[in-house]
Amino acid sequence: NLSDKLDKAFHILKGHGKITEVNVADTLKEVRRALLDADVNFKIAKDFTARVKEKAIGQDVLTTLQPGQLLVKLVKDELTELMGGDVAGVNLSGNPTVILMSGLQGSGKTTFSGKLANFLKTKKNKKPLLVACDIYRPAAINQLHVVGDQIGVEVYSEPENKNPVEIAQNAIKHAKANGFNVVIVDTAGRLAVDQEMMDEIARVHKAIQPQETLFVVDSMTGQDAVNTAKAFNDILNFDGVILTKLDGDTRGGAALSIKSIVNKPIKFVGTGEKMEAIDVFYPERMAERILGMGDVVSLVERAQEQFDEEEARKLQKKIAKNEFGFDDFLTQIQQVKKMGNMKDLVGMIPGASKAMKDVEIEDDAFKHIEAIIHSMTPGERSKPAIIDVKRKARIAKGSGTKVEQVNQLMKQFDQMSKMMKMMQGPGGKNLMKMMGG
Ligand code: GDP
Ligand code: MG
Repeated sequence: NLSDKLDKAFHILKGHGKITEVNVADTLKEVRRALLDADVNFKIAKDFTARVKEKAIGQDVLTTLQPGQLLVKLVKDELTELMGGDVAGVNLSGNPTVILMSGLQGSGKTTFSGKLANFLKTKKNKKPLLVACDIYRPAAINQLHVVGDQIGVEVYSEPENKNPVEIAQNAIKHAKANGFNVVIVDTAGRLAVDQEMMDEIARVHKAIQPQETLFVVDSMTGQDAVNTAKAFNDILNFDGVILTKLDGDTRGGAALSIKSIVNKPIKFVGTGEKMEAIDVFYPERMAERILGMGDVVSLVERAQEQFDEEEARKLQKKIAKNEFGFDDFLTQIQQVKKMGNMKDLVGMIPGASKAMKDVEIEDDAFKHIEAIIHSMTPGERSKPAIIDVKRKARIAKGSGTKVEQVNQLMKQFDQMSKMMKMMQGPGGKNLMKMMGG
């Protein structure tokens, strides 16, 4: 399987301390092949590996990690980012919220309409109404009624009416009059994209102005899914994608391609025929699924945590011995940058926010701070007390900053050292832990 293949590819990297152009090439070729196997579009797979390569080269490899493992982590992070990064929710504004389903026949619209109604009813405390706008097959209306009965949700249909626009509009009126706060409109699909179907869904879309237009796609359709998604998006400018039939070991590479081409978030996945087989889409989990290597990723994450803890321990010793210098300050800045907002962190420690009151540390400020520290000699970094007026002028010049900025950093450093000493007492361990990971 994919995991074995990548294992083989990563084997090449073992024993190297740094990721280099040479040792990464074969591995990335294998990653690309793996993506193609998972139905990711060729161009997307190629661009993707090029981006990972750019990020990977020159990265130091942590002691507890094999370069190959670090590369896996990079690949996973990049995949996650590509698939949307964060979880995307459904817009439930509007009274009632109108949700329109679109997609080819057999993609799973009717099934998903039921699943979503059930999800909103049981998890979000909503009162949904299902609407049967697939007027071409009598069985389709019946199918939605069966689904509705299963989950205890009312289904609105007009078996004699052949105008889906009218049915949808009447359904919304019915919802308003009867206290339904979500209206889910199931529509007809064709086996392939055709003009008639597109015209019809466009007319329904225009008439009911849904808060959410969802494009439903069968994750097993591979490359075709991308073209279909593009065609529907051109007409509807839909809000999100539903990936169905992601049960078993379907890799779901289509998810990646669709996201790259239409740039719309994937909101839910369908993982079976039952009404409960619905999951919110987590980009990170999907990345792991495509790569088929959850274990390796968590191993990498653990190793990184270890690395951080080790750093934190070393730092603690230095502070205790009064040896905290600018190099350590630099390390801290890097740690903090990795973790996010310094103020938030400090705010969690009783007493610390007061000590940090005058210290402004913002992302932008980091750039100057790092430049200034880089312009200091090793001696200056370990014994900041020797930095006099003359040295300050030299440092400012070397780092392209002003003497005032150097002064300010010295002051910040002073406050931070004091605070860290203070933190050595009870409660200090927490700060170290937070800073270290
Ligand atoms: P529609 O034509 O777009 O309305 O598609 P349907 O909802 O009728 O689904 C077509 C077929 O796919 C049905 O047999 C469903 O039971 C099946 N189906 C839908 N979603 C899923 C899913 O997530 N997993 C599996 N295994 N089957 C699904
Ligand atoms: Mg249907």
